[in-house]
Amino acid sequence: MRRKLMTRSMQRRKSNLRTRLSSLRVTQSIAVFGTRALVLTCALVSFHVEAKLPSKPPVERAQAQEPQLPRDLRVPGGIAVLQVAPASAPKPSVTRDGVSIWVKQGATHWWAVVGLPLSITPGPHSVAVAATPMAAAQTIHFDVKPKRYPVQKLTLNKAMVDPPAEVIERIERESAHLKTVRSRWRETDATNAAFVIPAKGRLSSRFGVARVLNGQPRAPHAGLDVAIPTGTPITAPGDGIVLDVGDYYYCGKSLYIDHGNGLLTLYCHLSEHIAKVGDAVKQHQLVALSGGTGRATGPHLHWTVYLNGVSVEPELFLSTKQ
Ligand SMILES: [Zn+2]
Repeated sequence: MRRKLMTRSMQRRKSNLRTRLSSLRVTQSIAVFGTRALVLTCALVSFHVEAKLPSKPPVERAQAQEPQLPRDLRVPGGIAVLQVAPASAPKPSVTRDGVSIWVKQGATHWWAVVGLPLSITPGPHSVAVAATPMAAAQTIHFDVKPKRYPVQKLTLNKAMVDPPAEVIERIERESAHLKTVRSRWRETDATNAAFVIPAKGRLSSRFGVARVLNGQPRAPHAGLDVAIPTGTPITAPGDGIVLDVGDYYYCGKSLYIDHGNGLLTLYCHLSEHIAKVGDAVKQHQLVALSGGTGRATGPHLHWTVYLNGVSVEPELFLSTKQ
């Protein structure tokens, strides 16, 4: 009801502004809505602020027409979405430090979608575009701005922070295997980064949070945690192929989906795998059930998105309307 009133009042307000009715009428509507006057006033203020904003820069405008691309955020753990060539040119080949970069053809341009590691130093960076029969090799420069992530202090079982000697070999074996998994490259035109969140729930820990475990500084949080009870369905955020399933020391029961061109997603602490390695999965398809296996303080989903081998902010792949 409240929302309905708000929406109706906002619609009326906008139409009032459009038809240039007198300010008296706006004052009247504030009086009519009584306790909602403050909200309405705030809405009016924000409307005026929005109206005064400059028009979107060309890159952002072009991206708005390319819904299959993630949002551009040039910070450690973010993504640089770069114009590489006109869409009419042959497909360019792009690398950063020798690692292949996803290149997507849009309506007007070829775009390079570059995952920026959390460890990247803010400042100038670049990607290399290989020569084609139509164009010489080029370097595309971009700037990475600093970002300060919050700090989270956690107390965990000692064995999970300082693993006992007998599991060191297991951890090393799994780490080598997962490094290979994460370097997977499958070229396809079908990669679509317009993801839907794999499970809905309270976001209990965001990406990039600096972690202090039992008083010791550790690697920052490489994913997004969703607090959900054991047995909650986990669905594919986009189309892809199941790349790996396993039961690992840190991540517990885990599953990787390969969405193509170095875009991978990982689900940790599962109670059950539903999809199998090699399965082609569609967006919204059930792939696993959540749990609290591996290094977890309780049942939740840990969701990581990898791009060109590095973990990036998963929320850049989600529509802001979700
Ligand atoms: Zn997590």
